[in-house]
Amino acid sequence: ETKLLHIQRHIRAFVDFPREGIVFRDICPILKDPAALSAVIDLFEEHVRRNHQHVDLIAGLDARGFLFGPLLAQRLGVGFVQVRKKGKLPGPTASVAYELEYGKAEAEIQKDAVAPGQKVLIIDDLLATGGTLYAACELLKTLQAEILECVVIIELKELRGADRLQPHAVFSLLQF
Ligand code: 5GP
Repeated sequence: ETKLLHIQRHIRAFVDFPREGIVFRDICPILKDPAALSAVIDLFEEHVRRNHQHVDLIAGLDARGFLFGPLLAQRLGVGFVQVRKKGKLPGPTASVAYELEYGKAEAEIQKDAVAPGQKVLIIDDLLATGGTLYAACELLKTLQAEILECVVIIELKELRGADRLQPHAVFSLLQF
């Protein structure tokens, strides 16, 4: 409870960023405060240990999933793999196109990042419409991963991203 409050106090809201009408939740203060960052990883670790008997890998989303994913993976003693924006990863990759609010994007993963049947937890900083995490789930499915859950710090409830991700579960530390 106090850890959650500490985390909450290290999230800022910026009105009209990156466009008019959007309230952007800025997690940079969490990274700047060691206690807030530890609290995030503590709460993720507690949740994962309580709810999943076995995790093989953490898959983090470009770019803010990369900030938290490796820390959680180290805590759990498992590996970390990257889901990146198109064109960044060398070697054979799988890719999936997805819709953004304006236009399209493509996400990629290295084909040997996950072996068939491996149990993977997906991590990002924030769930909005769910488009980004949905694309990551699709990618991991093409590699025949078993998706355990999606974990995020912040869930923007009114955008119903968790509905879009069904049947995959979403765990969020804070809901706005
Ligand atoms: P979605 O695909 O769910 O609509 O958007 C989520 C993705 O956009 C995440 O990768 C997240 O990092 C980024 N994002 C969207 N809105 C925000 C926001 O208000 N704050 C932060 N930190 N990231 C956001």
